[in-house]
Amino acid sequence: MGFVKASPQNQLRLLELADLDAELVRLARRRQGLPEVAELARLEARASELKDAIVQTETELSDLSREQSRAERDVEQVRTRIDKDRARLDAGQVSAARELASLQSEIESLHRRQGDLEEIVLELMERWETLVSRRDELAAERESLGSQMEALAAQRDAAFAEIDEQGAKASGQRGEVGADVPADLLKLYDQIRTTRGVGAAMLRVGRCEGCHLSLNTVDLNEIRAAAPDEVFRCEECRRILVRTAESGL
Ligand SMILES: [Zn+2]
Repeated sequence: MGFVKASPQNQLRLLELADLDAELVRLARRRQGLPEVAELARLEARASELKDAIVQTETELSDLSREQSRAERDVEQVRTRIDKDRARLDAGQVSAARELASLQSEIESLHRRQGDLEEIVLELMERWETLVSRRDELAAERESLGSQMEALAAQRDAAFAEIDEQGAKASGQRGEVGADVPADLLKLYDQIRTTRGVGAAMLRVGRCEGCHLSLNTVDLNEIRAAAPDEVFRCEECRRILVRTAESGL
């Protein structure tokens, strides 16, 4: 880039641009760093955990429901068998002593089996109740999380709208100021801004306001002796150094 020259007036405009650019950077940081954004991300992560946990609980419930039906069927089968054996016994169909003893022993063993199976059914019912209350707790948390997130999103959107309004204002002003700055000077400014964040700084009382470095006497003397349309840059931070009445020259 060749040597850019610009009138003091145009150089002063760069300070306005730098202020507006700093404002835009500040607004972008505020937008990114909004506490509502971080909090929403945290709640979204929790909501997703809850969703998975609810799905898992529903799956367990449906497995359990099948297990319950099976256990109830088993109990029913044993009961039917006992009834049948009893009926044979009551009808006096069995008279031989050995057959009778065997039938009675079968009924006894079926009763034990029935008792065991009924215990299993009870156990399954307990597990079912535990799971249902867990699912209800999860669902309640998800519901309250949902309304929390809604309120938070509304807060975030209001903050975004405010920031964006200020941003649009600053961008508009930047456009107006930039339109008055000669193209080569604006190009230089924007190049520095892209790498440095801010493209220009005021020289105030012998110091660069961008990096706060005090210029040495040799450099100050050079600036003092230079024509007003020369464009200087800070040796330290490379920003365009703009002379004002406060420069202490
Ligand atoms: Zn500097």
